[in-house]
Amino acid sequence: MTEREQSAMQDTHLSILIVEDDHAISELLGSIFVAMGFTVSQSTHIEHGLALVQREIPEIVVLDLGLPDGDGKVFIEQFRKISSNPILVLSSRVNEEEKVQALNLGADDYLTKPFGLSEMKARVNALLRRNKRIGALESTFSFGDIQIDLQRRRILKKNIEIHLTPIEFELLDLLLKNRGRVVTHRKILTELWGGEHLSDQHYSRIYMGHLRKKIEEDATQPRFLLTELGVGYRLEF
Ligand code: CA
Repeated sequence: MTEREQSAMQDTHLSILIVEDDHAISELLGSIFVAMGFTVSQSTHIEHGLALVQREIPEIVVLDLGLPDGDGKVFIEQFRKISSNPILVLSSRVNEEEKVQALNLGADDYLTKPFGLSEMKARVNALLRRNKRIGALESTFSFGDIQIDLQRRRILKKNIEIHLTPIEFELLDLLLKNRGRVVTHRKILTELWGGEHLSDQHYSRIYMGHLRKKIEEDATQPRFLLTELGVGYRLEF
């Protein structure tokens, strides 16, 4: 986190809800988020977590999926009825399928346990940044040798304009708008080709291949357009 982000966060005292029944993890997260300037509320159960949300909607939720009174996915469904604020899911390594289901239900990103603390901070900041940007209409980006102007649909690589096909552009646009967080294959297929192509996962793979050749220095070792195995893609810069 930059100093500017840190002070902006401390000024506003954003609220975060942690729903996690593992005491050690919950306590650790609580102290990190307090140190980051958040107002933290915590719960170990779905029902209690939802009761807290009814009182005050948190700016962001960190949610464990295996909870004593049921599946964390139930929380996602209920929370999405009242808020579009970001949900970061904590999933276990043994259940890969679970995180994809959670993302499809409306979670925004996930971390697999055990996770690093800096990774946790980065994910939470990326989610908050994105939530703020929806109003801010950010439309120019630069990373590596690339400069992008979304409004003018212009992309420069080492100051030379590169041409993207409409679908490649839509894919890049979608990833940029979700910068720092995973975009599932399902989301890509729905946004770019419509819901009837949900089984055509190779579409997103093919176009990601094209996009990497144009954007990355070395398409076989991507630095920015990253694969989340079995889940989707993430644009990181
Ligand atoms: Ca648990």
